[in-house]
Amino acid sequence: MPIDASIETRLRSIVGDKYVLSSAVDLAVYECDAETLDIATPDLVVLPKSTDEVAAVMALAYEHRIPVSARGAGTGLSGGATTVMGGISLVLSRMNKILSIDAVDRVAVVQVGATNVSVSEAAQRHSLYFAPDPSSQAASTIGGNIAENSGGPHTLKYGMTTNHVMGLKVVLSNGEVITLGGRSRTKEGLDLLGVFIGSEGTIGIATEAILKLIPRAQAVETMLAYFNTVEAAGQAVSDVIASGVVPAAMELVDQLTLNAVEDSWHMGLDRSAGALLIIELDGPRTGITIQRKKVESCIGTNNATSVQWANDAYERAKIWKARKSAFGALGRIAPHGYVLDGVIPRSKLALTISEIAKIAAQYNLTIANVYHAGDGNLHPCILYHKDNADEVKRVVQAGRDILELSVRLGGTLSGEHGIGIEKILEMPTVFSEESLESMRWVKQSFDPENICNPGKVIPTPKSCGESGGRPLLRHKLLTSGC
Ligand SMILES: Cc1cc2nc3c(=O)[nH]c(=O)nc-3n(C[C@H](O)[C@H](O)[C@H](O)COP(=O)(O)OP(=O)(O)OC[C@H]3O[C@@H](n4cnc5c(N)ncnc54)[C@H](O)[C@@H]3O)c2cc1C
Repeated sequence: MPIDASIETRLRSIVGDKYVLSSAVDLAVYECDAETLDIATPDLVVLPKSTDEVAAVMALAYEHRIPVSARGAGTGLSGGATTVMGGISLVLSRMNKILSIDAVDRVAVVQVGATNVSVSEAAQRHSLYFAPDPSSQAASTIGGNIAENSGGPHTLKYGMTTNHVMGLKVVLSNGEVITLGGRSRTKEGLDLLGVFIGSEGTIGIATEAILKLIPRAQAVETMLAYFNTVEAAGQAVSDVIASGVVPAAMELVDQLTLNAVEDSWHMGLDRSAGALLIIELDGPRTGITIQRKKVESCIGTNNATSVQWANDAYERAKIWKARKSAFGALGRIAPHGYVLDGVIPRSKLALTISEIAKIAAQYNLTIANVYHAGDGNLHPCILYHKDNADEVKRVVQAGRDILELSVRLGGTLSGEHGIGIEKILEMPTVFSEESLESMRWVKQSFDPENICNPGKVIPTPKSCGESGGRPLLRHKLLTSGC
């Protein structure tokens, strides 16, 4: 149902006339995130500048039972910010201030629309940084990182976003403002901060965050190695972990992807290699020397065809470019990519890789593979053309098969990209009805009128069509009777 003109007028008076968007062209920009299979246009886009404005918008939405989906930069890969029930797309990107950096307590206070990388840039002069580093960090916002509990290449050693957030200011669905956590680690009461992080916008809108900063490591060593097969590289990863070394990162890129990167950037990568493995070590200088020897031994045992260590920061950045530019480079092969995010036990890496190749052959699709190999988080990217309806159908079906494969092999649906709408139908494959019901209770406690990001994460009996919602392609293709 379109939003009443009188409500739109009140929204304009809260945030300012030019920060409410309503033309078809403007709304189309916000019809999806980076998961572009599923499209749903909001009724209005609202861009607040402060917690007070967010609170006033939420109070108004609550009064009129209008759905609100928070949005940061829209780089999400599970349709989290897509307004599947219509309503307001609440875009936090104007709230991008770094409010303070405290080098003594090693704490940053930021508005949630600040980009991930801007926090580390602001802390740089104190030799501190914010450890979570999603590959989208130049664009993705702290609010999005918190809502998705994002990871990144260095999650292997430093953990997810939840390990680096100390406190939050949150606007609830009725416009009330609460604080969770604080500047020092609080242990009293229920861990509502923990509940909020990873809740994908379904229980409130974060507006400010208190973030933990950590010092830069004394020494960093970054290695790039080539292997004839992904399986050999995967075995090297397992051997490194078994040797007792905990690298800061272990990232694996397959041949298709490394060739796309080489086509884009002409970095001199070895096009003939079956796989490229990046390993980064960091810590005190003395320890690194020992770890480097162990890593070289594991790489050698698995017949790496060549090994290069970065000699300086420039060479290190070049190695990381081969990984961090991977998804963009795949755009050279096909205009659209559906990136999956399953996690499997590390021991099943080789098996999973060959099973994904079988799924690609079965559906006659091209699938490129990038892995956070150290923690078993796979990112198969199914490449396709959105105007080819038959291909799109095969993409959705292959995606579902890959998700089911991860679960069947003892893994799970998502390592870091969240459930959103993309994986909502598969939630019952990993959670019992009792567990899902517990999640519904939590959601209802925070958001009894289902204002915050409805239709996401937790399946309801109506998930296949969600009456009142926008019909989604995925649900049409994967469910019957909707
Ligand atoms: C090229 C590329 C590389 C990527 N690499 C990684 C990676 O390495 N690791 C990783 O984890 N992810 C990665 N992602 C996915 C994505 O960047 C992350 O999920 C990121 O945290 C999303 O941030 P965003 O600001 O774009 O959020 P959006 O996409 O705008 O929103 C994501 C979710 O957060 C909610 N949300 C946003 N802001 C708020 C708020 N203030 N309060 C409450 N809810 C909110 C939204 O409702 C939505 O559910 C990648 C994406 C791309 C396109």
